[in-house]
Amino acid sequence: MERILVSACLLGSHVRYNGSYRLNNHPVLTRWQAEGRVVQICPEVAAGFSTPRPPAEIRGAGDAVLHGQGHVVEQTGNDVTALYLEAGQLALELARETGCRYAVLTDGSPSCGSSFVYDGSFSGNRVAGRGTTTALLEANGIRVFSEDDIGKLDDLLNGSAGTVA
Ligand code: SF4
Repeated sequence: MERILVSACLLGSHVRYNGSYRLNNHPVLTRWQAEGRVVQICPEVAAGFSTPRPPAEIRGAGDAVLHGQGHVVEQTGNDVTALYLEAGQLALELARETGCRYAVLTDGSPSCGSSFVYDGSFSGNRVAGRGTTTALLEANGIRVFSEDDIGKLDDLLNGSAGTVA
């Protein structure tokens, strides 16, 4: 049975920077939990961030941050790049320990984003790109889906969208 790494804020945990959650009781996630597939993590909290915490955005693509060419900066100006890299490592270690080849992570987050992130100006501007945790997971062969694509991954796991790769 495939296990799936899931952002804790998609499971109703109040771990987002402002103390909120992103989803709660999504029917597919609820079923996956009942099936024992879900491995949950909030990479930022795992790395030691408190909740609530200042919002942070990426300056440079998440992939570039992995290679020392970008930064994650809080709105206060505090550079938190090192902690974001640690957050990704902790998520990767957990995925490996639990055999997860797939993840569903919260889009738009500087850690968990998969199709877009915010541009570092703290003005609500979205840009195409991945968060630091997503970039690290995908660089290590773990496919990351956003919460909007939970159904696609469910279809894949059920064999209705082809063989699970
Ligand atoms: Fe959710 Fe990921 Fe942000 Fe944690 S780091 S609050 S799991 S989006």
